[in-house]
Amino acid sequence: MKPLTNNPILKTFSLLLLLILYTGIGSAQESKKRLPIIDVHVHAMKANPNFSSEMCPWFLKDMPGSGPNQEPPSFINTNCVAPLKPAKSDKEMQEAILRANKELNITMVVSGDADVIHKWHSAAPDHIIPSLGISNPEQMTVAAFKDSLSNGFYKVMGEVAPQYQGMSPSDMSLDAYFGVAEELGVPVGIHMGTGGNGMANISSPKYRASLGQPFLLEDMLARHPKLKIWVMHAGYPMVDQMIALMGANAYVYVDLAGFIWSYPLEEIHAYLKRLVQAGFAKRILYGTDLMVWPELLETSIGVIENANYLSEEQKRDILFNNAVRFLNLDASKFE
Ligand SMILES: [Zn+2]
Repeated sequence: MKPLTNNPILKTFSLLLLLILYTGIGSAQESKKRLPIIDVHVHAMKANPNFSSEMCPWFLKDMPGSGPNQEPPSFINTNCVAPLKPAKSDKEMQEAILRANKELNITMVVSGDADVIHKWHSAAPDHIIPSLGISNPEQMTVAAFKDSLSNGFYKVMGEVAPQYQGMSPSDMSLDAYFGVAEELGVPVGIHMGTGGNGMANISSPKYRASLGQPFLLEDMLARHPKLKIWVMHAGYPMVDQMIALMGANAYVYVDLAGFIWSYPLEEIHAYLKRLVQAGFAKRILYGTDLMVWPELLETSIGVIENANYLSEEQKRDILFNNAVRFLNLDASKFE
């Protein structure tokens, strides 16, 4: 009997069958597990009735002025077709986080409320990377800080946000803390740049836009040559300083958190495109600044996935590979 494969019709048919089977298996695997994502900027907080309104993404596309005797500008905007709903309780938020860990295959660097971080971490130890933030020396002594970082639970230092306190990141009162992170090889996330509309008028009178300038990091970096930092919010909107700083300091990365779902979309893409165009696609980390609106995860991932100026490789770098390299993670654990 002649082998079947010598029959041209059967040969084509079996090739076709193989192809159908192969693509079938491919899409079955895809629906089983999405490619991993690392979100380096998630805030754990207890449910708070003052902080539980709905929110429209890209709400800062309209930043009307106000006056001292008028209604203060509202921080977020709820006036859109489908505002994102906040989680109503700690339980609801935790369930949403665990679902995202599983269904969206997201691993998160989480800072904020220690109780909440511990709960999330014990529920999903492989998907939660605890981070310890400190923004002024009154929060914790240097010795206590070193103790906390040394016991192994916290893997990251952040969010460090001296800008809200009217302080430069190079302020000497924070220097010993950065020294601890440098000594222990712990990466540090520092808030620089964006704060929303009317931050200084509404909630943070000490906030200074000028203290978000990326160049303010230089003195601190010079004192800690082995420190690895990422500039949270990518120093938005000071892209020139950001590019110059990254050019001069090879251990500096940025994240896209916050501004990718609050400022106007065109502006976000122009900013991200500029960073990539300047050669820093390998130094951009994906982050959301997630607080209480779980759907923000999908919203923010969509911004990267829809960025038509990024190659597929650049998207994967931003969503995953860059964070693996920066945080010294084991990529094989994500397979
Ligand atoms: Zn921030």
